[in-house]
Amino acid sequence: MKTIGHLIDGQTQNNESRAQDVFNPATGEVSKRVALASKTTVEEAITKAQAAFPAWRNTPPAKRAQVMFKLKTLLEENADKICALITEEHGKVLDDAKGELQRGIENVEYACSAPELLKGEHSKNAGPGIDSWSEFQPLGVVTGITPFNFPAMVPLWMWPAAIVCGNTFILKPSERTPSSTLFICELAQQAGLPAGVLNLVNGDKEAVDTLLNDERVMAVSFVGSTPIAEYIYNTANSNGKRCQALGGAKNHAIVMPDADMDNTVNALMGAAYGSCGERCMAISVAVAVGNEAADNLVEKLQGRMSEMNVGPGTDNQNDMGPLITAQHFEKVKTYIDIGLEEGASLVMDGRNLRVDGHENGYFMGACLFDKVTADMRIYQEEIFGPVLCVVRVDSMQEAMDLIDAHEYGNGTCIFTRDGEAARYFSDNIKVGMVGINVPLPVPVAYHSFGGWKRSLFGDLHAYGPDAIRFYTKRKTVTQRWPSAGVREGAQFTFPSN
Ligand code: NAD
Repeated sequence: MKTIGHLIDGQTQNNESRAQDVFNPATGEVSKRVALASKTTVEEAITKAQAAFPAWRNTPPAKRAQVMFKLKTLLEENADKICALITEEHGKVLDDAKGELQRGIENVEYACSAPELLKGEHSKNAGPGIDSWSEFQPLGVVTGITPFNFPAMVPLWMWPAAIVCGNTFILKPSERTPSSTLFICELAQQAGLPAGVLNLVNGDKEAVDTLLNDERVMAVSFVGSTPIAEYIYNTANSNGKRCQALGGAKNHAIVMPDADMDNTVNALMGAAYGSCGERCMAISVAVAVGNEAADNLVEKLQGRMSEMNVGPGTDNQNDMGPLITAQHFEKVKTYIDIGLEEGASLVMDGRNLRVDGHENGYFMGACLFDKVTADMRIYQEEIFGPVLCVVRVDSMQEAMDLIDAHEYGNGTCIFTRDGEAARYFSDNIKVGMVGINVPLPVPVAYHSFGGWKRSLFGDLHAYGPDAIRFYTKRKTVTQRWPSAGVREGAQFTFPSN
Protein backbone atom coordinates (compact mmCIF):
# COMPACT_ATOMS: atom_id res chain seq x y z
CA MET A 1 0.00 0.00 0.00
CA LYS A 2 1.23 3.47 -0.88
CA THR A 3 2.67 5.57 1.96
CA ILE A 4 2.63 9.34 1.59
CA GLY A 5 5.99 10.82 2.61
CA HIS A 6 7.48 14.27 3.07
CA LEU A 7 8.90 16.91 0.74
CA ILE A 8 12.21 18.15 2.10
CA ASP A 9 14.75 20.20 0.16
CA GLY A 10 12.88 19.50 -3.08
CA GLN A 11 12.97 15.70 -2.62
CA THR A 12 10.18 13.36 -1.62
CA GLN A 13 11.32 11.37 1.35
CA ASN A 14 9.99 8.54 3.44
CA ASN A 15 12.06 6.57 5.88
CA GLU A 16 9.95 6.82 9.00
CA SER A 17 9.39 4.05 11.51
CA ARG A 18 5.86 5.34 12.18
CA ALA A 19 2.92 5.69 9.78
CA GLN A 20 -0.86 5.79 10.07
CA ASP A 21 -3.83 4.81 7.91
CA VAL A 22 -5.57 7.28 5.60
CA PHE A 23 -9.23 6.39 5.05
CA ASN A 24 -11.65 6.96 2.23
CA PRO A 25 -14.61 8.17 4.33
CA ALA A 26 -17.12 7.26 1.63
CA THR A 27 -16.18 3.57 1.82
CA GLY A 28 -14.59 3.27 5.25
CA GLU A 29 -11.58 1.59 3.60
CA VAL A 30 -7.93 2.39 4.14
CA SER A 31 -6.75 3.87 0.85
CA LYS A 32 -3.11 4.59 1.78
CA ARG A 33 -0.84 5.33 4.70
CA VAL A 34 0.90 8.51 5.75
CA ALA A 35 4.38 8.70 7.25
CA LEU A 36 4.67 10.35 10.67
CA ALA A 37 7.83 12.44 10.90
CA SER A 38 10.27 11.88 13.73
CA LYS A 39 12.00 14.75 15.54
CA THR A 40 15.11 14.01 13.45
CA THR A 41 13.19 14.38 10.16
CA VAL A 42 11.63 17.68 11.22
CA GLU A 43 15.02 19.00 12.36
CA GLU A 44 16.45 18.06 8.97
CA ALA A 45 13.64 20.00 7.27
CA ILE A 46 14.41 23.02 9.45
CA THR A 47 18.12 22.76 8.56
CA LYS A 48 17.30 22.68 4.84
CA ALA A 49 14.85 25.58 5.15
CA GLN A 50 17.44 27.61 7.02
CA ALA A 51 20.08 26.86 4.38
CA ALA A 52 17.73 28.02 1.61
CA PHE A 53 16.87 31.27 3.40
CA PRO A 54 19.81 33.61 2.55
CA ALA A 55 19.53 33.18 -1.23
CA TRP A 56 15.72 33.28 -1.21
CA ARG A 57 15.68 36.38 1.01
CA ASN A 58 17.87 38.15 -1.54
CA THR A 59 15.87 37.01 -4.56
CA PRO A 60 13.99 40.06 -5.91
CA PRO A 61 10.31 40.02 -4.92
CA ALA A 62 9.34 40.21 -8.60
CA LYS A 63 11.24 36.96 -9.25
CA ARG A 64 9.59 35.32 -6.24
CA ALA A 65 6.22 36.44 -7.59
CA GLN A 66 7.00 34.87 -10.98
CA VAL A 67 6.89 31.45 -9.29
CA MET A 68 3.40 32.30 -8.02
CA PHE A 69 2.23 33.22 -11.51
CA LYS A 70 3.40 29.81 -12.77
CA LEU A 71 1.91 28.04 -9.78
CA LYS A 72 -1.50 29.62 -10.45
CA THR A 73 -1.47 28.18 -13.97
CA LEU A 74 -0.36 24.76 -12.74
CA LEU A 75 -3.08 24.71 -10.08
CA GLU A 76 -5.72 25.50 -12.69
CA GLU A 77 -4.37 22.87 -15.10
CA ASN A 78 -4.33 20.24 -12.34
CA ALA A 79 -7.59 21.25 -10.65
CA ASP A 80 -9.41 17.98 -11.44
CA LYS A 81 -6.64 15.86 -9.99
CA ILE A 82 -6.35 18.02 -6.85
CA CYS A 83 -10.12 17.94 -6.27
CA ALA A 84 -10.26 14.18 -6.78
CA LEU A 85 -7.59 13.77 -4.08
CA ILE A 86 -9.50 16.09 -1.72
CA THR A 87 -12.74 14.16 -2.22
CA GLU A 88 -11.05 10.78 -1.85
CA GLU A 89 -9.63 11.63 1.57
CA HIS A 90 -12.02 14.26 2.95
CA GLY A 91 -15.27 13.08 1.42
CA LYS A 92 -16.61 16.50 0.32
CA VAL A 93 -18.47 16.74 -2.98
CA LEU A 94 -16.22 17.45 -5.98
CA ASP A 95 -17.85 20.80 -6.77
CA ASP A 96 -17.31 21.83 -3.15
CA ALA A 97 -13.63 20.84 -3.46
CA LYS A 98 -13.47 23.03 -6.59
CA GLY A 99 -14.78 25.97 -4.57
CA GLU A 100 -12.15 25.37 -1.91
CA LEU A 101 -9.37 25.19 -4.50
CA GLN A 102 -10.56 28.37 -6.20
CA ARG A 103 -10.41 30.25 -2.90
CA GLY A 104 -6.91 28.85 -2.40
CA ILE A 105 -5.82 30.01 -5.87
CA GLU A 106 -7.04 33.51 -5.01
CA ASN A 107 -4.38 33.58 -2.30
CA VAL A 108 -1.74 32.64 -4.86
CA GLU A 109 -3.00 35.53 -7.03
CA TYR A 110 -2.63 37.86 -4.05
CA ALA A 111 0.94 36.64 -3.53
CA CYS A 112 1.67 37.60 -7.17
CA SER A 113 1.51 41.23 -6.06
CA ALA A 114 4.48 40.81 -3.69
CA PRO A 115 6.57 43.61 -5.27
CA GLU A 116 3.74 46.07 -4.66
CA LEU A 117 2.99 44.72 -1.17
CA LEU A 118 6.62 44.88 -0.03
CA LYS A 119 7.44 48.38 -1.34
CA GLY A 120 7.66 49.83 2.14
CA GLU A 121 7.33 53.48 3.12
CA HIS A 122 9.64 56.39 2.41
CA SER A 123 9.91 59.93 3.81
CA LYS A 124 12.24 62.40 2.17
CA ASN A 125 13.54 65.15 4.47
CA ALA A 126 12.33 63.53 7.67
CA GLY A 127 14.80 66.02 9.16
CA PRO A 128 17.18 68.49 7.55
CA GLY A 129 19.05 66.46 4.92
CA ILE A 130 17.70 63.28 6.45
CA ASP A 131 15.68 60.63 4.66
CA SER A 132 13.88 57.80 6.38
CA TRP A 133 12.26 54.61 5.18
CA SER A 134 10.59 51.54 6.59
CA GLU A 135 11.06 48.20 4.94
CA PHE A 136 9.55 44.80 5.61
CA GLN A 137 12.12 42.07 6.04
CA PRO A 138 11.39 38.34 6.12
CA LEU A 139 11.60 36.51 9.42
CA GLY A 140 13.52 33.39 8.34
CA VAL A 141 12.15 29.86 8.72
CA VAL A 142 8.42 29.90 9.46
CA THR A 143 5.90 27.10 9.82
CA GLY A 144 2.22 26.36 9.20
CA ILE A 145 0.14 23.62 10.84
CA THR A 146 -3.19 22.94 9.16
CA PRO A 147 -6.50 21.07 9.73
CA PHE A 148 -8.16 18.27 7.75
CA ASN A 149 -11.15 20.17 6.46
CA PHE A 150 -9.52 22.40 3.82
CA PRO A 151 -6.42 20.49 2.71
CA ALA A 152 -5.86 22.75 -0.32
CA MET A 153 -7.17 26.14 0.79
CA VAL A 154 -5.86 26.59 4.33
CA PRO A 155 -2.20 25.76 3.49
CA LEU A 156 -2.58 28.20 0.56
CA TRP A 157 -3.65 30.87 3.08
CA MET A 158 -0.19 30.56 4.57
CA TRP A 159 2.81 29.56 2.53
CA PRO A 160 2.36 31.61 -0.69
CA ALA A 161 2.28 34.82 1.38
CA ALA A 162 5.12 33.67 3.61
CA ILE A 163 7.48 32.73 0.81
CA VAL A 164 6.83 35.73 -1.45
CA CYS A 165 7.84 37.81 1.58
CA GLY A 166 11.21 36.01 1.43
CA ASN A 167 10.77 33.43 4.20
CA THR A 168 11.32 29.72 3.88
CA PHE A 169 8.52 27.46 5.05
CA ILE A 170 7.77 24.13 6.71
CA LEU A 171 4.19 22.93 6.31
CA LYS A 172 2.73 20.32 8.65
CA PRO A 173 -0.65 19.39 7.11
CA SER A 174 -3.37 17.21 8.60
CA GLU A 175 -2.43 13.54 8.72
CA ARG A 176 -6.04 12.70 7.74
CA THR A 177 -6.01 14.43 4.32
CA PRO A 178 -2.36 14.55 3.19
CA SER A 179 -2.35 13.86 -0.57
CA SER A 180 -3.74 17.03 -2.19
CA THR A 181 -1.61 19.21 0.09
CA LEU A 182 1.57 17.35 -0.90
CA PHE A 183 0.66 17.39 -4.59
CA ILE A 184 0.21 21.19 -4.50
CA CYS A 185 3.65 21.60 -2.90
CA GLU A 186 5.12 19.42 -5.65
CA LEU A 187 3.49 21.73 -8.21
CA ALA A 188 5.23 24.65 -6.50
CA GLN A 189 8.59 22.92 -7.09
CA GLN A 190 7.56 22.46 -10.72
CA ALA A 191 6.74 26.18 -10.89
CA GLY A 192 10.39 26.94 -10.10
CA LEU A 193 10.60 27.22 -6.33
CA PRO A 194 14.21 26.54 -5.29
CA ALA A 195 14.77 23.42 -3.16
CA GLY A 196 14.38 24.03 0.56
CA VAL A 197 12.16 27.12 0.26
CA LEU A 198 8.96 25.12 0.81
CA ASN A 199 9.15 21.88 2.78
CA LEU A 200 6.34 19.60 3.90
CA VAL A 201 6.51 17.16 6.78
CA ASN A 202 3.64 14.84 7.53
CA GLY A 203 3.21 13.95 11.14
CA ASP A 204 1.47 14.30 14.46
CA LYS A 205 2.25 15.86 17.83
CA GLU A 206 5.93 14.85 17.66
CA ALA A 207 6.40 16.86 14.46
CA VAL A 208 4.41 19.82 15.77
CA ASP A 209 6.25 19.93 19.08
CA THR A 210 9.61 19.83 17.30
CA LEU A 211 8.59 22.84 15.23
CA LEU A 212 7.32 24.68 18.31
CA ASN A 213 10.45 24.07 20.33
CA ASP A 214 13.19 24.61 17.74
CA GLU A 215 14.71 28.06 18.12
CA ARG A 216 15.41 28.30 14.36
CA VAL A 217 11.66 28.51 13.66
CA MET A 218 10.68 32.17 13.90
CA ALA A 219 6.89 32.14 13.47
CA VAL A 220 3.97 29.72 13.62
CA SER A 221 0.64 29.90 11.79
CA PHE A 222 -1.94 27.40 12.99
CA VAL A 223 -5.49 26.57 11.96
CA GLY A 224 -7.43 23.85 13.81
CA SER A 225 -9.50 23.23 16.91
CA THR A 226 -9.48 25.66 19.84
CA PRO A 227 -7.80 23.45 22.48
CA ILE A 228 -4.88 22.76 20.13
CA ALA A 229 -4.79 26.41 18.94
CA GLU A 230 -4.45 27.55 22.54
CA TYR A 231 -1.69 25.03 23.19
CA ILE A 232 0.18 26.07 20.03
CA TYR A 233 -0.15 29.76 20.87
CA ASN A 234 1.03 29.40 24.47
CA THR A 235 3.95 27.12 23.57
CA ALA A 236 5.08 29.24 20.63
CA ASN A 237 4.85 32.41 22.70
CA SER A 238 6.76 30.99 25.63
CA ASN A 239 9.47 30.02 23.13
CA GLY A 240 9.61 33.61 21.86
CA LYS A 241 7.97 32.94 18.49
CA ARG A 242 5.44 35.06 16.69
CA CYS A 243 2.18 33.10 16.49
CA GLN A 244 -1.30 33.29 15.02
CA ALA A 245 -3.54 30.35 15.96
CA LEU A 246 -7.04 30.13 14.50
CA GLY A 247 -9.45 27.88 16.36
CA GLY A 248 -12.96 26.50 16.34
CA ALA A 249 -16.34 28.14 15.99
CA LYS A 250 -20.05 28.14 16.69
CA ASN A 251 -21.44 30.49 14.06
CA HIS A 252 -24.90 32.00 14.58
CA ALA A 253 -27.30 33.31 11.95
CA ILE A 254 -29.97 35.71 13.16
CA VAL A 255 -33.24 35.32 11.28
CA MET A 256 -35.32 38.47 11.65
CA PRO A 257 -39.11 38.39 11.24
CA ASP A 258 -38.85 40.53 8.09
CA ALA A 259 -36.31 38.25 6.36
CA ASP A 260 -37.01 36.82 2.91
CA MET A 261 -37.63 33.36 4.33
CA ASP A 262 -37.17 31.31 1.14
CA ASN A 263 -33.80 32.88 0.41
CA THR A 264 -32.83 32.59 4.07
CA VAL A 265 -33.65 28.89 4.14
CA ASN A 266 -31.68 28.24 0.95
CA ALA A 267 -28.71 30.14 2.37
CA LEU A 268 -28.88 28.28 5.68
CA MET A 269 -29.11 24.87 4.00
CA GLY A 270 -25.77 25.37 2.24
CA ALA A 271 -24.13 27.07 5.20
CA ALA A 272 -25.22 24.46 7.75
CA TYR A 273 -24.90 21.25 5.76
CA GLY A 274 -22.40 21.99 2.97
CA SER A 275 -19.26 19.90 3.47
CA CYS A 276 -21.26 17.93 6.07
CA GLY A 277 -21.00 20.88 8.46
CA GLU A 278 -17.22 20.43 8.66
CA ARG A 279 -16.37 24.08 8.00
CA CYS A 280 -15.14 26.56 10.58
CA MET A 281 -17.54 29.08 9.01
CA ALA A 282 -20.52 26.67 8.92
CA ILE A 283 -23.69 28.05 10.45
CA SER A 284 -24.53 25.75 13.36
CA VAL A 285 -27.05 27.96 15.18
CA ALA A 286 -30.03 29.78 13.67
CA VAL A 287 -31.47 32.32 16.10
CA ALA A 288 -35.04 33.07 15.08
CA VAL A 289 -36.54 36.31 16.36
CA GLY A 290 -40.18 35.69 17.31
CA ASN A 291 -42.11 32.41 17.32
CA GLU A 292 -43.77 33.09 13.98
CA ALA A 293 -40.40 33.42 12.23
CA ALA A 294 -39.13 30.34 14.09
CA ASP A 295 -42.12 28.16 13.09
CA ASN A 296 -41.87 29.30 9.50
CA LEU A 297 -38.10 28.71 9.43
CA VAL A 298 -38.28 25.21 10.90
CA GLU A 299 -41.11 24.16 8.58
CA LYS A 300 -39.30 25.38 5.46
CA LEU A 301 -36.00 23.85 6.58
CA GLN A 302 -37.68 20.48 7.10
CA GLY A 303 -39.08 20.63 3.57
CA ARG A 304 -35.71 21.41 2.01
CA MET A 305 -33.90 18.83 4.16
CA SER A 306 -36.16 16.04 3.02
CA GLU A 307 -35.06 16.77 -0.58
CA MET A 308 -31.34 16.54 0.19
CA ASN A 309 -29.09 14.00 -1.50
CA VAL A 310 -26.40 12.48 0.67
CA GLY A 311 -23.82 10.16 -0.85
CA PRO A 312 -20.27 9.88 -2.12
CA GLY A 313 -18.58 13.15 -2.99
CA THR A 314 -17.52 11.78 -6.36
CA ASP A 315 -21.13 12.32 -7.50
CA ASN A 316 -21.86 16.03 -7.93
CA GLN A 317 -25.59 15.32 -7.65
CA ASN A 318 -25.04 14.86 -3.92
CA ASP A 319 -25.39 17.84 -1.60
CA MET A 320 -23.36 16.31 1.17
CA GLY A 321 -20.71 13.59 1.54
CA PRO A 322 -19.61 11.60 4.59
CA LEU A 323 -17.99 12.73 7.84
CA ILE A 324 -14.22 12.48 8.03
CA THR A 325 -13.65 9.41 10.26
CA ALA A 326 -15.54 6.70 12.13
CA GLN A 327 -14.51 8.36 15.44
CA HIS A 328 -15.88 11.71 14.32
CA PHE A 329 -19.11 10.02 13.17
CA GLU A 330 -19.51 8.57 16.68
CA LYS A 331 -18.77 11.95 18.26
CA VAL A 332 -21.45 13.70 16.20
CA LYS A 333 -23.93 10.91 16.98
CA THR A 334 -23.19 11.28 20.68
CA TYR A 335 -24.05 14.98 20.43
CA ILE A 336 -27.48 14.03 19.05
CA ASP A 337 -28.03 11.81 22.12
CA ILE A 338 -26.87 14.64 24.38
CA GLY A 339 -29.26 17.12 22.70
CA LEU A 340 -32.18 14.72 23.27
CA GLU A 341 -31.21 14.22 26.91
CA GLU A 342 -30.96 17.98 27.33
CA GLY A 343 -34.56 18.38 26.12
CA ALA A 344 -34.05 19.89 22.67
CA SER A 345 -36.55 18.84 20.05
CA LEU A 346 -34.97 16.75 17.24
CA VAL A 347 -37.19 17.55 14.27
CA MET A 348 -34.94 15.93 11.63
CA ASP A 349 -32.82 12.92 12.56
CA GLY A 350 -30.11 11.86 10.08
CA ARG A 351 -28.50 9.20 12.22
CA ASN A 352 -29.91 6.16 10.49
CA LEU A 353 -29.14 7.14 6.93
CA ARG A 354 -28.11 4.28 4.61
CA VAL A 355 -26.27 4.96 1.39
CA ASP A 356 -26.61 1.96 -0.90
CA GLY A 357 -23.28 0.50 -1.93
CA HIS A 358 -21.52 2.57 0.75
CA GLU A 359 -22.71 0.84 3.90
CA ASN A 360 -19.33 1.23 5.60
CA GLY A 361 -18.96 4.93 4.77
CA TYR A 362 -19.31 7.56 7.51
CA PHE A 363 -22.56 9.02 6.19
CA MET A 364 -24.96 10.91 8.40
CA GLY A 365 -28.04 12.70 7.18
CA ALA A 366 -28.79 16.30 8.06
CA CYS A 367 -30.09 16.85 11.61
CA LEU A 368 -32.18 19.72 12.93
CA PHE A 369 -32.80 20.58 16.57
CA ASP A 370 -35.50 23.07 17.54
CA LYS A 371 -36.02 24.77 20.92
CA VAL A 372 -32.34 24.70 21.80
CA THR A 373 -31.33 26.85 24.77
CA ALA A 374 -28.05 28.49 25.76
CA ASP A 375 -27.41 26.16 28.70
CA MET A 376 -27.25 23.06 26.45
CA ARG A 377 -23.96 21.47 25.40
CA ILE A 378 -25.22 21.15 21.82
CA TYR A 379 -25.43 24.95 21.85
CA GLN A 380 -22.17 25.66 23.61
CA GLU A 381 -19.80 23.18 21.93
CA GLU A 382 -18.58 22.88 18.37
CA ILE A 383 -20.11 19.70 16.90
CA PHE A 384 -18.51 20.03 13.44
CA GLY A 385 -21.15 17.90 11.74
CA PRO A 386 -24.46 18.23 9.87
CA VAL A 387 -26.39 19.53 12.88
CA LEU A 388 -28.25 22.83 12.94
CA CYS A 389 -29.69 24.15 16.22
CA VAL A 390 -32.61 26.57 16.21
CA VAL A 391 -32.79 28.92 19.20
CA ARG A 392 -35.93 31.03 19.70
CA VAL A 393 -35.65 34.57 21.10
CA ASP A 394 -37.97 37.58 21.38
CA SER A 395 -35.77 40.39 20.09
CA MET A 396 -32.73 41.14 17.99
CA GLN A 397 -30.92 42.43 21.08
CA GLU A 398 -31.53 39.10 22.82
CA ALA A 399 -30.05 37.32 19.78
CA MET A 400 -27.01 39.61 19.82
CA ASP A 401 -26.50 39.12 23.56
CA LEU A 402 -26.42 35.36 22.99
CA ILE A 403 -23.79 35.67 20.28
CA ASP A 404 -21.69 38.07 22.33
CA ALA A 405 -21.78 35.74 25.34
CA HIS A 406 -20.58 32.72 23.34
CA GLU A 407 -16.93 31.74 23.76
CA TYR A 408 -16.38 31.62 19.99
CA GLY A 409 -16.53 34.60 17.65
CA ASN A 410 -15.52 33.39 14.21
CA GLY A 411 -18.38 34.25 11.83
CA THR A 412 -21.99 35.36 12.07
CA CYS A 413 -24.70 36.73 9.83
CA ILE A 414 -28.12 38.34 9.87
CA PHE A 415 -31.02 37.84 7.48
CA THR A 416 -33.22 40.91 7.30
CA ARG A 417 -34.66 43.55 4.98
CA ASP A 418 -33.98 46.27 7.56
CA GLY A 419 -30.81 48.24 6.76
CA GLU A 420 -30.78 50.02 10.10
CA ALA A 421 -30.93 46.73 12.03
CA ALA A 422 -28.21 45.21 9.83
CA ARG A 423 -25.94 48.21 10.35
CA TYR A 424 -26.44 48.14 14.12
CA PHE A 425 -25.67 44.41 14.09
CA SER A 426 -22.46 44.63 12.05
CA ASP A 427 -21.27 47.62 14.02
CA ASN A 428 -21.73 46.10 17.47
CA ILE A 429 -21.55 42.32 17.32
CA LYS A 430 -18.42 40.80 18.93
CA VAL A 431 -17.48 38.53 16.04
CA GLY A 432 -14.61 38.79 13.54
CA MET A 433 -16.43 38.12 10.25
CA VAL A 434 -19.97 39.33 9.64
CA GLY A 435 -22.43 38.64 6.84
CA ILE A 436 -25.55 40.62 5.97
CA ASN A 437 -27.81 38.29 4.01
CA VAL A 438 -24.54 36.43 3.28
CA PRO A 439 -24.36 33.15 5.20
CA LEU A 440 -20.63 32.36 4.83
CA PRO A 441 -18.82 35.71 5.02
CA VAL A 442 -15.37 34.26 4.26
CA PRO A 443 -13.30 37.32 3.28
CA VAL A 444 -11.80 37.46 -0.22
CA ALA A 445 -8.04 36.97 -0.48
CA TYR A 446 -7.24 40.69 -0.41
CA HIS A 447 -8.95 41.15 2.95
CA SER A 448 -7.88 39.03 5.93
CA PHE A 449 -9.59 36.12 7.71
CA GLY A 450 -9.94 35.81 11.46
CA GLY A 451 -12.36 35.38 14.30
CA TRP A 452 -12.55 37.03 17.70
CA LYS A 453 -12.57 35.64 21.24
CA ARG A 454 -11.51 31.97 21.45
CA SER A 455 -11.66 31.56 17.66
CA LEU A 456 -8.26 33.25 17.23
CA PHE A 457 -5.23 33.53 19.47
CA GLY A 458 -2.90 36.29 18.32
CA ASP A 459 -3.25 39.73 16.83
CA LEU A 460 -3.01 39.39 13.09
CA HIS A 461 -5.54 37.54 10.97
CA ALA A 462 -4.74 34.99 8.25
CA TYR A 463 -3.96 35.85 4.61
CA GLY A 464 -4.42 39.20 2.84
CA PRO A 465 -2.74 42.35 4.22
CA ASP A 466 -2.38 40.87 7.72
CA ALA A 467 -0.32 37.98 6.34
CA ILE A 468 2.22 40.37 4.85
CA ARG A 469 2.56 41.98 8.28
CA PHE A 470 2.69 38.62 10.05
CA TYR A 471 5.43 37.17 7.86
CA THR A 472 7.69 40.25 7.91
CA LYS A 473 9.35 42.43 10.50
CA ARG A 474 9.59 46.14 10.03
CA LYS A 475 12.95 47.88 9.90
CA THR A 476 13.16 51.67 9.80
CA VAL A 477 16.31 53.28 8.42
CA THR A 478 17.22 56.93 8.96
CA GLN A 479 20.05 58.24 6.75
CA ARG A 480 22.07 61.36 6.22
CA TRP A 481 24.93 61.93 3.81
CA PRO A 482 26.62 65.14 4.93
CA SER A 483 28.18 67.24 2.21
CA ALA A 484 31.92 66.70 1.92
CA GLY A 485 33.84 69.00 4.23
CA VAL A 486 30.88 69.92 6.43
CA ARG A 487 31.73 69.34 10.10
CA GLU A 488 28.99 69.20 12.72
CA GLY A 489 29.50 69.66 16.42
CA ALA A 490 28.41 67.11 19.02
CA GLN A 491 24.73 67.47 19.86
CA PHE A 492 23.66 66.44 23.36
CA THR A 493 19.97 67.27 23.12
CA PHE A 494 17.55 64.63 21.83
CA PRO A 495 17.44 64.85 18.02
CA SER A 496 14.34 66.68 16.77
CA ASN A 497 13.34 69.00 13.98
P1 NAD B 1 -7.10 19.63 15.02
O1 NAD B 1 -6.91 20.72 16.01
O2 NAD B 1 -7.38 18.26 15.51
O3 NAD B 1 -5.76 19.48 14.11
C1 NAD B 1 -5.18 20.59 13.48
C2 NAD B 1 -3.68 20.32 13.32
O4 NAD B 1 -3.09 20.19 14.62
C3 NAD B 1 -3.35 19.05 12.57
O5 NAD B 1 -2.27 19.29 11.70
C4 NAD B 1 -2.97 18.08 13.67
O6 NAD B 1 -2.01 17.12 13.25
C5 NAD B 1 -2.39 18.97 14.73
N1 NAD B 1 -2.61 18.45 16.09
C6 NAD B 1 -3.68 17.75 16.53
N2 NAD B 1 -3.53 17.45 17.83
C7 NAD B 1 -2.35 17.97 18.22
C8 NAD B 1 -1.66 17.99 19.47
N3 NAD B 1 -2.15 17.41 20.56
N4 NAD B 1 -0.47 18.62 19.52
C9 NAD B 1 0.04 19.21 18.43
N5 NAD B 1 -0.57 19.21 17.22
C10 NAD B 1 -1.75 18.61 17.12
O7 NAD B 1 -8.21 20.12 13.99
P2 NAD B 1 -8.92 19.29 12.83
O8 NAD B 1 -9.84 18.28 13.42
O9 NAD B 1 -7.93 18.84 11.83
O10 NAD B 1 -9.79 20.44 12.13
C11 NAD B 1 -11.07 20.82 12.57
C12 NAD B 1 -11.00 22.01 13.50
O11 NAD B 1 -10.34 23.09 12.86
C13 NAD B 1 -12.37 22.55 13.87
O12 NAD B 1 -12.36 22.91 15.23
C14 NAD B 1 -12.53 23.78 13.00
O13 NAD B 1 -13.40 24.77 13.50
C15 NAD B 1 -11.13 24.27 12.96
N6 NAD B 1 -10.89 25.13 11.80
C16 NAD B 1 -10.76 26.46 12.03
C17 NAD B 1 -10.57 27.32 10.97
C18 NAD B 1 -10.43 28.79 11.18
O14 NAD B 1 -10.04 29.47 10.26
N7 NAD B 1 -10.70 29.32 12.36
C19 NAD B 1 -10.50 26.81 9.66
C20 NAD B 1 -10.62 25.43 9.47
C21 NAD B 1 -10.81 24.60 10.56
